[in-house]
Amino acid sequence: MATFSTDALEDVRAWRRDFHENPELLFEVDRTAGIIADKLRSFGCDEVLTGIGRTGVVAVVRGRRSDSGKVVGLRADMDALPIYEQTNLPHRSRVEGKMHACGHDGHSAMLLGAARHLAAERDFNGTAVLIFQPAEEGAVGAKAMIDDGLFDRFGIQEVYGMHNMPGLPVGQFALRPGPAMSSADRFEVTIEGFGGHAARPQRSVDPVIATNHIITALQTIVSRNTDPLESAVLSVCAIHGGEAFNVIPQSVSFKGTVRTLLPEVRELCEKRFHHIVNTVADAFGTTATITYAHDCPITFNDPEKAGLAGDAAAAVVGTDKVRRDLPPSLGSEDFSFMLEQRPGAIIFLGNGDTANIHHPMYDFNDEAIPHGVGYWTELTERLMPAN
Ligand SMILES: [Zn+2]
Ligand SMILES: [Zn+2]
Repeated sequence: MATFSTDALEDVRAWRRDFHENPELLFEVDRTAGIIADKLRSFGCDEVLTGIGRTGVVAVVRGRRSDSGKVVGLRADMDALPIYEQTNLPHRSRVEGKMHACGHDGHSAMLLGAARHLAAERDFNGTAVLIFQPAEEGAVGAKAMIDDGLFDRFGIQEVYGMHNMPGLPVGQFALRPGPAMSSADRFEVTIEGFGGHAARPQRSVDPVIATNHIITALQTIVSRNTDPLESAVLSVCAIHGGEAFNVIPQSVSFKGTVRTLLPEVRELCEKRFHHIVNTVADAFGTTATITYAHDCPITFNDPEKAGLAGDAAAAVVGTDKVRRDLPPSLGSEDFSFMLEQRPGAIIFLGNGDTANIHHPMYDFNDEAIPHGVGYWTELTERLMPAN
């Protein structure tokens, strides 16, 4: 297993803190991507390409030999969140209203640390493709890079991701084979009635009462239509309609999200959603306009690749420090788009007892850096052994 000098790890920590002080949102990660590309070039990576998926960066590092023909993708995310940081850390965000509250500063810095090691040692037979993606928060950055030809241009055959996890002790990893994180679908509905005076409802078609019945009926998708042993969430999170106490409005709109862990459950929820909204709206004499968008696929860890990822993590921190049966989460992750293209796995890295991700007091735990960098290099060298 590779070892890293204190100086090398101190550099990763310094990069991480620099990214933390200078957070950028979604695709506007120009500074971060620029620094990453400069460093990758200075490490002697064989190719460094920018502007993939607008502001994504890709580096190619060939092993001492590459006749195995293997090409492995390693992915980190670069973007921050629109959150006002509330920590008083020396490296706190210098940009009001923007913050690295999901640890993508750490993810990018750790993959950079691995890139430097891989480019210096090249102790593998094959090609490592290091992927730095924008716009994970908002779930379109991975897709933008894919649409820009990421997998075909570089011949990537399998792909791996890593995310930090608050609550999991530092020095531990966790993952699961199969569905690891949920799909995220989004709906927006407008119920059109016929407005009028509140005192003469018989001359109106009331969209408020229709919407109430629709939202209540939607709760039966999870409770009555899906297998109780399979997970699904349907949350209506906003309703808008009406202005005055004595006016029946013309229309009411609502929106929310659907999360599932299996494609067949996802399909069922969508089908039932349309049926319930349309028929209940019709029963009340209203009409429904539905927008139902597939924001993010199910994050599916290929069982064999998840096993290999777990083995690499175990080589870094010890077998007893890798949990391989982590329960799935109904959060979503846009790395799922990459896992739709090629088999691979996402693993979680212990961030210790910190605030949760997306919280204004959160901070990536620098103590996790040796484990994260170690995982990337170990994984690469194991998947493409030099001998
Ligand atoms: Zn996040
Ligand atoms: Zn994240």
